[in-house]
Amino acid sequence: RVKEHGRNSYRFFLPEMGGMALDKLDMEGNLRRALENDELVPYYQPKVNIATGRIVGAEALVRWRHPKIGVVSPNEFIPLAEETGLILPIGEQMLYQVCRQIRAWDEAGLPRIPVAVNISARQFRQDDLAQRIRRAIEESGLDPARLELELTESMVMHDADGAVGTLRELRLMGLQLSLDDFGTGYSNLTYLKRFPINTLKIDRSFVSDLTTNPDDAAIAAAVVAMSHQLGLTVVAEGVESEEQLQLLAANGCDQYQGFLFSRPVPAEDFEKLLRRDLE
Ligand code: C2E
Ligand code: MG
Ligand code: MG
Ligand code: MG
Repeated sequence: RVKEHGRNSYRFFLPEMGGMALDKLDMEGNLRRALENDELVPYYQPKVNIATGRIVGAEALVRWRHPKIGVVSPNEFIPLAEETGLILPIGEQMLYQVCRQIRAWDEAGLPRIPVAVNISARQFRQDDLAQRIRRAIEESGLDPARLELELTESMVMHDADGAVGTLRELRLMGLQLSLDDFGTGYSNLTYLKRFPINTLKIDRSFVSDLTTNPDDAAIAAAVVAMSHQLGLTVVAEGVESEEQLQLLAANGCDQYQGFLFSRPVPAEDFEKLLRRDLE
């Protein structure tokens, strides 16, 4: 719905509003206001154990609940947020919202699953990232093991030596770490071995043609085997069909996320999924 026109103009295409043009500054201003008005909220997508079919985790994904436009997806504002630095307060707010939500689910007696938050490249480059995360965890009195951070391959490979130190610090705090979008960047397998991560997420692009493209199927199988050799849990992203799921199961993949099970949903709906799972 938002398309970039040239360098400076964004345009919301809304059938119901007849289209609304916004330049970059307007867009930035709107995003800033959204942040202040708490319009940026986490939706949650289940991570499902392939062997048992049960929900074993969740990923928090930011949504902009615009009062006029409705729900705006992150692909439409994260790039600008990265560019302007607004991603820092947005990421921080997400972190606090998610920590509080985990506590609320605990208090409601729901299963104590880990919840993952996506960390942006800019956040990852902050010198005080670990302290900031520690503060959010402490404020909500959370067991750090309940919080997982998703980092992309390109983000950690960019300054791999520096990343190893940051990742170690986060692991020592007790957090879970996962490498997101695996297979889309330049992976250096030497570093993969050195990164103290728990989980590897196979990018959706390999999953989408899994059942029709033997090369993608071979890559997925190899990534699963390699991850297990390294002691990592493997999650497949973007599973949309039963056939894809069967193939991943045959290859020993541990968990999956995808529309087949559920889209990312608001906290109240995720809670219903968790309760249904308890029965
Ligand atoms: P990601 O972290 O790789 O998240 C997975 C994306 O795949 C999500 O898109 C999810 O809705 C989508 N997805 C899940 N299952 C399926 C499926 O079966 N089919 C298809 N077609 N898509 C599926 P979403 O929520 O639009 O987020 C897109 C990206 O935006 C994320 O990719 C992540 O890189 C970024 N993002 C989202 N929330 C945050 C956030 O809070 N902070 C930061 N820094 N980035 C975020
Ligand atoms: Mg992610
Ligand atoms: Mg991903
Ligand atoms: Mg992605």
